[in-house]
Amino acid sequence: MATILDGRVLAQNIKSVLQQEVAELKEKTGVVPRLVNVMIGLDHSACAYANSQKKVAENIGINYELTILPSDVTQQELITVIKRLNADPCVDGIMIHKPIPAAIDYRAVANYVDIEKDLEGINVANIGKMILGETRLIPCTPAAVMEHLKSTAIDLKGKEAVIVGHSEIVGKPLSLLLLRELATVTVCHLATSQAGRLVDHVRRAEILVVAVGKASLIKGDWIREGAVVIDVGINRVEDKMVGDVEFDAARKRASFITPVPGGVGPVTVVMLMRNGVEAYKSQRLKKDMY
Ligand code: NDP
Repeated sequence: MATILDGRVLAQNIKSVLQQEVAELKEKTGVVPRLVNVMIGLDHSACAYANSQKKVAENIGINYELTILPSDVTQQELITVIKRLNADPCVDGIMIHKPIPAAIDYRAVANYVDIEKDLEGINVANIGKMILGETRLIPCTPAAVMEHLKSTAIDLKGKEAVIVGHSEIVGKPLSLLLLRELATVTVCHLATSQAGRLVDHVRRAEILVVAVGKASLIKGDWIREGAVVIDVGINRVEDKMVGDVEFDAARKRASFITPVPGGVGPVTVVMLMRNGVEAYKSQRLKKDMY
């Protein structure tokens, strides 16, 4: 029976380290990191998520602000706001809260976020730097997956790692992070399923990460005996939140498994804060001080 990787406990541990670090930075410089979340329109669930981020930030000692723009804001107006935040030396980190209106080209706007302030690692320059291992601002969900893997103390070198889902925010950046640890990485997607090959790849995974958004896509009996299973997916089924993996059946075969909710999600929020602290340090401290 797999050990459950409790994301709330892991998040709390990382939060404690960050709390300490922020307190020390404040003592040294007199200021704490200041992060700004730019939200467009007043979407109820986006606001709830932003409020939970704010709570985590304040708990760590980080100053977190929400800038809410009208839902009919133009792309140019949004870019102007981003440029103003880029130029403000008192702002350490910027994020653009999703969803954003269809009329706005997210990718074009993302590339305006200063690479030093890019909390979500969305600027194309930071994406490129990830390949070279040169940025500390790594997209938050892949970073959370890596923290879960690190908590198992399993050496990833040479392991068969299979990622299901190749989105720009989860699967693709995660493949680079796993490669950096010298895992042998396979990335599956819709075409893998359509070719009827998903099950074959999942069956040989020693490390399995699923980020699709389809409940029960991964059957419990596909899981390799002793595999580590990280379920990123979030789905609502009959008013219950579930992942992409059949949890109960998978738990019987895996060695470690994340639950949904309470697995990757809580750690993702803390990774955003960790990026905020890294952004602060790179801008406010001399490089040789950290
Ligand atoms: P996207 O919709 O951007 O990507 C989904 C991916 O799944 C695509 O690469 C798609 O491939 C692939 N896919 C779709 N159907 C299948 C299938 N039948 N078999 C194999 N692959 C398939 O989603 P995100 O990456 O943004 O998010 C994925 C899930 O993770 C969602 O449930 C989301 O809510 C959750 N999430 C959770 C977070 C957390 O912190 N816990 C944070 C971010 C996301 P293709 O492009 O080829 O169609």
